[in-house]
Amino acid sequence: MTSIESTVLLPARPSTAGTLDARAVSAWFGDRKVLDRVSLTMPQGQVTALIGPSGCGKSTFLRILNRMHELIPGAALAGEVLLDGTDVYAPERRLTSARRDIGMVFQKPNPFPAMSIYDNVVAGLKLTGIRASRPEKDHLVEECLGKAGLWREVQDRLRQPGGALSGGQQQRLCIARSLAVRPKVLLMDEPCSALDPTSTRRIEQTIRELAETVTIVIVTHNMQQAQRVSDRCAFFLAEQGTPGAIVEHGPTGAMFATPADPRTSDYVNGRF
Ligand code: ADP
Ligand code: MG
Repeated sequence: MTSIESTVLLPARPSTAGTLDARAVSAWFGDRKVLDRVSLTMPQGQVTALIGPSGCGKSTFLRILNRMHELIPGAALAGEVLLDGTDVYAPERRLTSARRDIGMVFQKPNPFPAMSIYDNVVAGLKLTGIRASRPEKDHLVEECLGKAGLWREVQDRLRQPGGALSGGQQQRLCIARSLAVRPKVLLMDEPCSALDPTSTRRIEQTIRELAETVTIVIVTHNMQQAQRVSDRCAFFLAEQGTPGAIVEHGPTGAMFATPADPRTSDYVNGRF
């Protein structure tokens, strides 16, 4: 039998990989502009939190980063997204390669409910063109469930359906599924909003652990959470009738302690 390393198409990531750069990104739905020239560097191995009121374009921005925006009818965009200096939107870059490098976890846990826990974890392999043998998959399932903090709880019931897990466990299963294709970046859109405080804290801990090897961009409405999990923060705002834009960004500690803009101060202190 061949070893895992020699056959599975899952290269180890160099430790410098995974810096995402958005440059002057604008977005439209039909005639309506919803993001205006957003530029943000999301450095490798760090957690960047996107904060700001509902409707200011945070989810749209995330979807642009991994090319989900272009699938929405009527959606358009301008600007550039670079992953380690390479254009995510380059015509020769296949969509599956963008998806493989840049994973996404959503607000509502969305495992395939009837599919087993095991099959949920490896579901992304085929979709992104990765072949793996049974032993390779076994290894991957343990590794990814381990990284997502779920292995101990489910190792004896990998054949049970994903839908049988609790909400927090389902979200961790979704994180494990995202990790199985070895992404460089993990995008998380309010991953804890549907969860109880205990599940939330466990996922926050997982996020911090993952950040050692994966770049993380997380949208959160919870200012305590932003301070607990993120290294850097970007404050988005769509002022009356204008598209969403970044008001300020920088290291999280500084942004909360000494925000440069009064609107940031108002937002992080709960004044709107
Ligand atoms: P946020 O995540 O910050 O709450 P969104 O990115 O979801 O903001 O939305 C930004 C703006 O784009 C909002 O005004 C929203 O109504 C609009 N929008 C989002 N998705 C769509 C869509 N599929 N079609 C049309 N408009 C949309
Ligand atoms: Mg959103």
